[in-house]
Amino acid sequence: MSKIQVMAEALANKIAAGEVVERPASVVKELLENAIDAGSTKIEVTVEEGGLSLINVRDNGDGIGARDLPTAFLRHATSKMYSERDLFRIQTLGFRGEALPSIAAVSKLEISSRQKDDLLARTLTLEGGKIIAEKEEAHAIGTSISVRDLFFNTPARLKYIKSLQTENAHIQDVINRLALAHPTISFTLINEGRDVIKTSGNGQLISVIHAIYGIDVAKKMIAITGEHLDFQVTGYLGKPEVTRGTRTYMTILINGRFVRSYVLQKALLEGYHTLLPIHRYPFAVVHITLDPSLVDVNVHPAKLEVRFSKEEELAKWLKDKVRQTLLSASLIPDAAKHNNRSYPQTVQHKFDYNYVQPPPSIRSNHSYGVVLESAATVHPLEQSKIFFEKMLGGETTATFEDTTATGTITMGGSSALDNQATTFTLEPLAQLHGTYILAQNEDGLYMVDQHAAQERIHYERFRKLLSTPVQSRQILAIPYTYETTASEAVIVRAHAELFADLGIVQDAFGERAFLVREIPDWFVQGDVEKQIEEIVTLILQGKRQLSLADIRDQSAQLMACKASIKANQFISKAEMESLLQELVLTENPYTCPHGRPILVHFSRYEIEKMFKRVM
Ligand code: ADP
Ligand code: MG
Repeated sequence: MSKIQVMAEALANKIAAGEVVERPASVVKELLENAIDAGSTKIEVTVEEGGLSLINVRDNGDGIGARDLPTAFLRHATSKMYSERDLFRIQTLGFRGEALPSIAAVSKLEISSRQKDDLLARTLTLEGGKIIAEKEEAHAIGTSISVRDLFFNTPARLKYIKSLQTENAHIQDVINRLALAHPTISFTLINEGRDVIKTSGNGQLISVIHAIYGIDVAKKMIAITGEHLDFQVTGYLGKPEVTRGTRTYMTILINGRFVRSYVLQKALLEGYHTLLPIHRYPFAVVHITLDPSLVDVNVHPAKLEVRFSKEEELAKWLKDKVRQTLLSASLIPDAAKHNNRSYPQTVQHKFDYNYVQPPPSIRSNHSYGVVLESAATVHPLEQSKIFFEKMLGGETTATFEDTTATGTITMGGSSALDNQATTFTLEPLAQLHGTYILAQNEDGLYMVDQHAAQERIHYERFRKLLSTPVQSRQILAIPYTYETTASEAVIVRAHAELFADLGIVQDAFGERAFLVREIPDWFVQGDVEKQIEEIVTLILQGKRQLSLADIRDQSAQLMACKASIKANQFISKAEMESLLQELVLTENPYTCPHGRPILVHFSRYEIEKMFKRVM
C-alpha cells in the first residue's frame, strides 16, 4: 500500500467540521444561511441545552428535491456555484458546499425537505455523516433539519464548549445579526420552550431593532443613508446616550452578510468621535452595499471575514457619513463642540507636556492605569521627587488638618527606597475653562482635570464602602421596571442566584422586562437600570467567573462618576484646595477609574524651554 492516500470522505468531513462547526452557534448560522439562500420568508429555530442536545431549523423555502437530498451531504456539493466565474460574483450566503456534510459528520442529523411540486417530503437520518435511514412522509413545503447530540463523536471539541449560557448567547447573536440583515424574513428563536426572539418580517429594519433590542433602544435610533460612486449605506445609528460596554451591538453588513471588519468598526466609532464615553459602544446597524465583484468572501471558512479592494476608501467615507448623520441630528452638546475646535498644529506640537505617570510598581497593581504607557516621559529622577512616599511603600504622615493651615498639600513621610523625607506641595492657582485646576509647586505647573480627580477620590471611597459585605437592602417604594434585549433577558434569568446574592430582588415581568423590588444599599438610586445593565454586560463577557468583587468594582466606578463634579462647573479656591488634598491621599492619583489622566505636568525646565530661556 502506498504511503500517501486520499482521505476517506468521512474523515475529510470530520476535519472540515473542525473549521466550519466551531460551536453550536456555527450550526445555527450555517442552517439559517441555507434557509435564507432558499428564499424562505419564515424561519423558526428551536434550541435545547445550548444547542448541544438539539438545534432544529424549519423554513418555508424552496426545499431540496428528493433525488438531490443525499447529494447535499457530499463534500463540496452545492447548488450555488457551478463555475469558477461564479466565485467572483457570489450573491448567496453559502457557496462552499461544506456546511451540511460537516455538521452531519459531528452529529445525529435528520432532514426532511419538500419542494412545491412534490406531494411528500423525503426524510433522511444520518449519524456521524452516514445515512442510516430514510423514508417519505408528509411535510410542509420547505426544509426542516434537526441536529442532535452535537460533537457526540468528537469529545475534544465538547470539552471546549463553555457554559450553556455562553452558547445560548452566541446563538442569539447569530440570529440577531441575520435578522438585522434580513428584515423581510420572520425569524423565531425558541429556547427551552420559550420565545426568545421573534421578528415580524415586515421589511422594516427598525421593527427588527425593536424586536431584538427593545423599544428603549429603537426609540433612540437615527436613520443613516448615503450614496457614493461605489458604495451605498442604509441603516440606523444609536444615539450616543444609549451605549453598552461591548461592541456586540454594532452590526456591520456587507451585501447582506454580517462581517467582522476591524477597519469598518473603527470607522464607525471614529464617526462618533467624542460623543461616546470611554469604553462605551453604540448600537448600530449599517447595511453597506457594493458591487459583489469588489468583495472577496472566500477568506474565512465561516465566511465572517471578507476582503475588498476599496476598504480604506469605504472606511473614510463611512466615518464622515456617520459623523454628518450624528451632527445633523444635533446631538453634540456645546462642550463637545468646544472640544472639537482644534488649535493650529504648530502651536499644539510645541506643548511637550508630560502626563504624570505612576511609578511602575503602582501601575502594575492597577488594571485601570494602563492607558498612558506611550506618554511615559517623566524622568525617573523627577518622579521620585514628585511621587509621594506612600507610593514607594512608605507611610503618609500628612493629614487633612495639617494641610488646610498652609493652603497647600504637604505629604511627608519616609520612603522605603530612600530615607530622605520629601515633601510634595500643590498650590491651586486658578480654574481654567471651568474644568481644570491650575496648580503649581517648585517643579512647575500642573493641570488637574477636576472631574477625573473627583472620580478617583469617590471611586476609592465607594470601593472601600462596597468591599465591606453588608447585605442590607432597601425596599423600593415604587418597584422599578427595566427592559433588556432578548438575549440579555436570558442572561438575567439564568443568573437569578447571583442577583439575589447581590441583594437585588426582582421578578420577571413578561418576556424581557423585570420588576425590581429591592436593591442593595450601595446601589445608586435612580440609576438602577444602568447598574443592572453593567452587571449583565459583565456576565455576558464572562471570560472568567464573575465575582461579587467585580460587580462591586464596576458599581463603585459608576457611583464615582455620578457623584463627581462635571466639567464646566465653577469651583471656589477653597474647594480646589480640598479637592487636591483628597486627591493626593488616594492610592492612585494619576488616572481616573476609566484610565484617563488626572494630572498633566509642565516642568519648570519645559516652561523655560518654551520661552527660550534655556535651550
Ligand atoms: P452551500 O450552502 O455552501 O451550498 P451546504 O452544505 O450548506 O452548502 O448546502 C448544500 C446544498 O444543500 C445547498 O447548495 C442547497 O442546494 C441545499 N440546501 C441546504 N439547506 C437547504 C435549505 N434549507 N433549503 C433548500 N436547500 C438547501
Ligand atoms: Mg450553506
